[in-house]
Amino acid sequence: MRHRPSYRDRARILAAVSLIVCSGPAATAQPVCSLSDSALRATRTIEIDASTGPIFGAFTKQAKEISFLRPKEVVLTFDDGPMPWITRSIMDSLDAFCVKATFFSVGRMAIAYPDVVKEIIARGHTLGTHTMTHPFNMHRMAPTKAHEDIERGFAAVAAAAGTPIAPFFRFPGLADSRDLLDYLQTRGIATFTVDVVSDDSYIHDPSRLAATTLARVEQNGGGIILFHDIKRSTAKALPQILKGLQSRGFKVVHMKAAAPVQPHLDLLVAMTEKLAKGKKSQTNQTLVPFYGSVGPEPRSELQDDEVTVIAHPPRVRSLAKPDQPRASDTMRSTAVDRPAIVKSDGSNAPTNYRKSDKNSRPPAPNSTNSP
Ligand SMILES: [Zn+2]
Repeated sequence: MRHRPSYRDRARILAAVSLIVCSGPAATAQPVCSLSDSALRATRTIEIDASTGPIFGAFTKQAKEISFLRPKEVVLTFDDGPMPWITRSIMDSLDAFCVKATFFSVGRMAIAYPDVVKEIIARGHTLGTHTMTHPFNMHRMAPTKAHEDIERGFAAVAAAAGTPIAPFFRFPGLADSRDLLDYLQTRGIATFTVDVVSDDSYIHDPSRLAATTLARVEQNGGGIILFHDIKRSTAKALPQILKGLQSRGFKVVHMKAAAPVQPHLDLLVAMTEKLAKGKKSQTNQTLVPFYGSVGPEPRSELQDDEVTVIAHPPRVRSLAKPDQPRASDTMRSTAVDRPAIVKSDGSNAPTNYRKSDKNSRPPAPNSTNSP
């Protein structure tokens, strides 16, 4: 029989939901570490305006945006979690090197481990989503079912976080489609494929995983790297990978959203109820208060000294063939076609894009050779 929350519980749920929808990003606790320990950390943040539904990363056959990374810059991404004993170990390694990552969490995992989801936010990382149930065949699903899985994923992760999350999405198996990208565009959600696959789904030896990842990053000159925070080998290899990136002169860039995602309210209420019910059944206690904005972010010596804002014009996919970049995706693009790049001080910054590595070939859209 379906449990109906009491009036008091429902009022608390709605208050929590309104906090998630209405408030800005929560303040985050920054680990304080010496600058000598943070040589891997880039001194700029990429702030992405997702409102026009851009798609980033080389592993797609769809028309995509040009890379926002400079040579020898990487973005660390972790899919499929959270899984407490893996995700926390990964975050400990990231803290040790003073770098931030983006986690594309799965909705049902977030519902199972909401404390870890909150910790991802609290430790200053960026939180995106990876659907509710991780179907590998989204490009073949009925559109309404695919949309539902995407929306439930955002609602579940936002409810578990108890605070606004990024409008950042990654397709399971990277199985994107033009129609689904069009849908994400209508929702103001940015999609991220990858530039470098670590293959941590298949390589179980940490040393071999580190060597493979570093070789691929070096060959590609940097890029968005794909890992999974459900793999023990990933957690074990990460310190070696971060040390290797540092010794090779790479920098880790922190990717943030210009504004949070707006989950569907009915789904957010349903997921918040689901969490409350799970909490009660586990601990027989009342709903714990959600995280909220607790004041200004504490300043530390690790404050970014440069913020690069990426804002692309909306793409009309019905007029573009898949795999055919629009004019703005090439180095020959005009200033008008280029995304707006604004420095934190408001002045224009020169674009400094690298050409995509010709050796990076996108997999077939239905490939399961990653996330
Ligand atoms: Zn995945």
